[in-house]
Amino acid sequence: MERKRGESMYLGAIEAGGTKFVCAVGDGDGNVHERVTFPTTTPEETFEHVIDFFKRYDVEAIGIGTFGPVDLHRESPTYGYITSTPKPHWSNVNFVGAINEHFRVPIGFDTDVNAAALGEQLWGAAKGKQSCIYITVGTGIGVGAIVEGRLVHGLLHPEMGHILIRRHPDDEFAGSCPFHRDCLEGMASGPAIEKRWGKKGIELSDRTDVWELEAFYLGQAIAQYILILSPEKVIVGGGVAHQPSLLPLVRQNVLDFLNGYVQHDAILHHIDDYIVRPGLGDNAGICGALALAKQALEK
Ligand code: ADP
Ligand code: ZN
Repeated sequence: MERKRGESMYLGAIEAGGTKFVCAVGDGDGNVHERVTFPTTTPEETFEHVIDFFKRYDVEAIGIGTFGPVDLHRESPTYGYITSTPKPHWSNVNFVGAINEHFRVPIGFDTDVNAAALGEQLWGAAKGKQSCIYITVGTGIGVGAIVEGRLVHGLLHPEMGHILIRRHPDDEFAGSCPFHRDCLEGMASGPAIEKRWGKKGIELSDRTDVWELEAFYLGQAIAQYILILSPEKVIVGGGVAHQPSLLPLVRQNVLDFLNGYVQHDAILHHIDDYIVRPGLGDNAGICGALALAKQALEK
């Protein structure tokens, strides 16, 4: 059913990134009706834009998928906060509190990648599956996971972008992660590519060596995720994944690293349909936030 402005039954969605915020209203079927994008500046200024946008609608719930780290424990005094981020101004920011102050509706709050995983499971590439992972390869590397039908949380939340990986013997790049230097993110994020090769990924499209090395790292990581979580679908999003030559090379590396050990048809014979781009395309994040709103309303 088409819903018009002014009528209720809108769900609100916030995709909070380190460089930009996307706010949208949509429905419980994953349709986005209206959206705005603005740069991430200070929390005060950014939340003002968010609140101005949602004031125009009668939203029943709001979902927030955000960069982190975040506190997801409802009983914690800092629930709903962005906690220890290196991003200036954004440490110890009460995100849920700032939104709740103006909108007394259920609020779903999770990491950007968990949101995207949920959106993909409800309406995208993992529709009908009980498990999946969503990997973003962009400014950072993050992974959201659904296992046995539920988003994976824990002490904090998984940080699978920072796993240790085996270095390629010909790769002398030191790595760009400020915490671990040559973890996955330090070796394979967009900024890592730019630092290693001296050019942005988008300008390196014709360099097969660049994408072979990138796939060597991503393939290793995905093989680890498959061994640890056994997801029914692996979804690879983010700016770097726009490189058309990347995913076929990643699939080949996953097959090489697993070396026939995980005996499942999906991997052995249908890997093109197992490791895939987001079904929701670049809307995975904002639809994911919409999915969090839907989940918050149902709870
Ligand atoms: P963010 O992670 O900040 O939300 P993106 O997912 O767009 O944003 O990732 C940005 C990173 O992806 C940058 O490092 C950029 O150089 C890289 N990138 C964007 N588009 C491409 C492309 N087509 N090919 C390779 N790298 C890309
Ligand atoms: Zn790291």
